[in-house]
Amino acid sequence: MQTTTIDKREDTDTRDTLERLEREFAADSPFAQPLTGRAVVQARGLTRTYGKGDAAVHALTGVDIDIAAGRLTAIMGPSGSGKSTLMHILAGLDEPTGGTVWIDGAEITRLKEKKLTQLRRDKVGFIFQSFNLLATLSADENIVLPLSLARRQADEAWRRAVIEAVGLQDRLTHRPAELSGGQQQRVAVARALITRPAVLFADEPTGNLDSRTGGEVLDLLRRSVDEFGQTVIMVTHDVGAASIADRVVFLKDGRIVLDRARMTRDAIYDTIKNLETPAAKPVARVAVEV
Ligand code: ADP
Ligand code: MG
Repeated sequence: MQTTTIDKREDTDTRDTLERLEREFAADSPFAQPLTGRAVVQARGLTRTYGKGDAAVHALTGVDIDIAAGRLTAIMGPSGSGKSTLMHILAGLDEPTGGTVWIDGAEITRLKEKKLTQLRRDKVGFIFQSFNLLATLSADENIVLPLSLARRQADEAWRRAVIEAVGLQDRLTHRPAELSGGQQQRVAVARALITRPAVLFADEPTGNLDSRTGGEVLDLLRRSVDEFGQTVIMVTHDVGAASIADRVVFLKDGRIVLDRARMTRDAIYDTIKNLETPAAKPVARVAVEV
């Protein structure tokens, strides 16, 4: 069973990082991107049932969601609420039992495997809790791997900008085993950004990191949104991580129970605690413009 990180007593480093982020990326910040309002990912009527008959698990029971371009959206909810299932379906890694998903206007739930693989390669970036780097490749080779697989050349200026953004200039020839967890996750972020994906999905990106290096990775994700206009969808148990998001979507029992624009850590903490209490009444869904 997964544990939930809802401890309010984060260390000073994390709090400082988060407070700085809150200041730097306030809506009136010179770095803030104008809102485009365009939905990069859309889903309607998503259901996902695992197994059959008495053993059936209804992991998603009817999810509608629009993810606006150039925003950081956090998906939270108790363990087993359907977060990973939703992320995998939105990213085209799993098929829903019912419902429809569009990425960048293309209906992915109709695509055959070959076209879907191509679309994922061109439009989607991933960051996983466990980094998922190739052990035999250097940091640099890992970063450009999605391009190598697509037989595409790296745009040199973009490659340099990404490597500089993740601060790995002097670690490029190192293999993953020679890098700290935080550095490995920064390689993974660079690898996800290198193709300039329409959307970047992150599943518990700070789950294997201590709070300081986790804070660095969050800083990076936030900057990818504010400086590069990247669209990011992040599944997280971490209240601090969700508090840097522009929008926080809460799942419970396979459906969205709360959908809010930027929330403070205290508000997120209280909401999660409420959702994890078995007797808690579902919170009314509040629609927000983001
Ligand atoms: P979360 O990421 O929020 O913890 P998941 O999406 O992993 O939740 O799981 C949602 C529900 O679906 C849980 O009850 C889980 O046990 C179930 N589930 C997830 N994957 C499978 C699977 N491959 N086979 C059967 N049940 C699954
Ligand atoms: Mg999960």
